[in-house]
Formats: sequence, C-alpha cells, structure tokens
Amino acid sequence: MAYQAEYIWIDGTEPTRKLRSKTRIVADGKKPPVWGFDGSSTNQATGHFSDCVLQPVFTCPDPLRGPNDVLVMCEVLNADMTPHPTNTRAAAVAVAKQFASFEPMFGIEQEYTFFQEGRPYGWPEVGFPAPQGPYYCGVGGAKMPGREIVEAHTLACLRAGLGIEGTNAEVMMGQWEFQIGILGTVEVGDQLWTARWLLERIAEDFGVDVSFDAKPIKGDWNGAGAHTNFSTKQMRASGGWDAIIAGCEALGTRVLEHIDNYGEGIKDRLTGAHETAPWSKFSYGVSDRGSSVRIPGGVARDKRGYLEDRRPNANVDPYVVARLMVETICGAATPTRTAAKKAPAKKVAAKKTTARKAPARR
Ligand code: ADP
Ligand code: MN
Ligand code: MN
Ligand code: MN
Repeated sequence: MAYQAEYIWIDGTEPTRKLRSKTRIVADGKKPPVWGFDGSSTNQATGHFSDCVLQPVFTCPDPLRGPNDVLVMCEVLNADMTPHPTNTRAAAVAVAKQFASFEPMFGIEQEYTFFQEGRPYGWPEVGFPAPQGPYYCGVGGAKMPGREIVEAHTLACLRAGLGIEGTNAEVMMGQWEFQIGILGTVEVGDQLWTARWLLERIAEDFGVDVSFDAKPIKGDWNGAGAHTNFSTKQMRASGGWDAIIAGCEALGTRVLEHIDNYGEGIKDRLTGAHETAPWSKFSYGVSDRGSSVRIPGGVARDKRGYLEDRRPNANVDPYVVARLMVETICGAATPTRTAAKKAPAKKVAAKKTTARKAPARR
C-alpha cells in the first residue's frame, strides 16, 4: 500500500527559524524522492523564482500515523542543487567530515515552555503563579501543567527511534526539558529538529503552543537553554582530562563567535542570574552551574568524559552549535591546520573555578 511521508524542513524566518512540513503519498516499495516547495512563502525565495528543493537526509518511522508512514527530515537546496543560504546542515556535514578522526559526540538538553492564550501553560489569567521553587522535577496537583503532552512526546520519540534520553520539569512553571543524544555532529541536529517537530505537532492536539524563546518571561523567572554536552574520542579515553581542559580553553578563545550564534536573545538570558554565567565573561569550572562551561563532577572524578557548554539558547540551531563546537575544539587540537589559517582570536579571561556549592540540579 502507498504510504505517507511527512517532509520536514527548516524555513527562513528571522531571527529564529521555524519548522515547516507537508505530506507526500509515496508508492509502495519506493523511497521518499527529492521534492520541492514554494520558497516565497517561507522567506527562502522571491515570488519570481520561488522553487526550493527538499533533499531527504534523515528518515524515521512516523509515530503519529500508520505503521508504514515516515518522517523525512530534509535539507533545503537551491534549484541548482547547491545548499540554500538557510541550510546550516551542509556546513555541519563538512566540518564533521573534516574532524571525523576526533569522533565528536553530543547530547543536547532541550528546554522549552508551553504556552496557551498568550501566557505560559497553567499560569493564571491575571498575575503570576507561586514563585519558582516547587516546579523543578516537581509532582502533584495543578502545579505541573503539560505533563500529558510531555508523556505523549516521549512515547512518540521512542516509537520514532530517536535518541531521547530523558525528560524533566524545569524551574519555571510550564517549562520542561528533554535530552537527545549521544549522537554525532550532524545526527544530533537531525534528531533534535525531528523531536522539536514532534513536540510542536503533538502540542497542537492539546491546543498548546511550544515556545523555544530564551527568556519567555522577563524578571525573576528562569530562561530556557539548550545545554550542549560534547566529547571527543580523546576526552572519553582514559586520561582524557587534558583534552577536556584544552577544549574549555579553546572555547574561551572564540567567545563572541559562539555567543552570536547561540540563539536570538542570548544576552537577555545569560545575565549571571538564574544558573547562568554572564555572556561577556567566559568561565569554566567543575560542577559549576554558574559558569559558561561546566565539567560534571563525575567527569572530574574519572578524569575523562565530556564538557557541558551551558550557553546555547533553547532556540539555538543544533546544526550551528555542533559545527561551532567541533570547529573550535577540534580545530584547536589540530595546530598545523588552524595556526596557518586563523588570525589569533581575542583571548577572554577564563576563570577557573572549583566546586562551588551547586544549586538545584538542572
Ligand atoms: P544535567 O541536567 O545535569 O546537566 P542531563 O542529564 O540533563 O544533565 O544531560 C546530560 C547530557 O550529557 C545528556 O544529553 C547526555 O547525552 C550527555 N552526555 C553524557 N555523556 C556524554 C559524552 N561522553 N559526550 C557527549 N555528551 C554526553
Ligand atoms: Mn545541563
Ligand atoms: Mn535544564
Ligand atoms: Mn538537564
């Protein structure tokens, strides 16, 4: 029997891209073919020359439809089959290839906020809910709005075969998190974008919107991030500590380039409050959730493992953050190539901190 393929792509909306999708019926026994769309309706073309190409790059079972139906994540190409300017995956593919010998791996913690009728889901029509405190990993009563959507989304990710690792309620009421990993430079982006699409699609059925806004509510409420956990083969190996420290130091040499590409509104989120480090002052430290980059306590004990870049916003493009981290960290560990190519980056003072009392685990 013919089956349904849901083609998903990333549009050209500024400053933060949105997801789009449309359905194609594919004949029994055939693979989802290259397809196209009207780029003039997605901020990806002018009306006069509006054909953009959808190139399937990642396919998985569609957990919301029949057993033969699929989700098809696509790259957007120009009519001449070159990558469209809004296509950030193509650059990630190139960098992943260049630094393949490092075997970079990622786990991304996606935070987000449910909204309904213009306010966070479950918030009163007038005023505010009780202050932050009981919501992080909370249970019970009316204080955990959205759990039914989280449950449906987790199940959908599992059925799709995505690398979902867990979920938790976040510090602000109506805010939640899921983690995707441990996956390669390009794969983590493919699967996180697909998981975001599933979340938005499932929330539709509940009459709820998903916001990836970095600071959805101003004031004394937590923002939403996408902590990006990273390792190379060297970091994971016995004695990987030196490579982890070298990775932290490398991130400290390209601070602004990363901040500028870690999502819209990052300066509103990385204020130094609410378990963040100020965006302008790069730091790293063991178990330190008030630093830009955290080395988890267990990693410090084992002297091997991974580092956590806490700066990316919830609305970051995972293809961009993964590409940048590989470029910066693996690039710094490949001196012959980078020394010749790159002008020395401005050094920003790196604050080395050791275990300060960790606030509530997030
Ligand atoms: P926390 O909330 O304490 O920061 P989470 O449990 O939410 O931590 O997320 C930890 C993340 O670290 C997961 O996404 C996981 O995939 C990732 N991770 C664990 N080990 C590695 C590794 N060796 N390389 C890259 N990422 C890793
Ligand atoms: Mn984290
Ligand atoms: Mn979190
Ligand atoms: Mn987490």
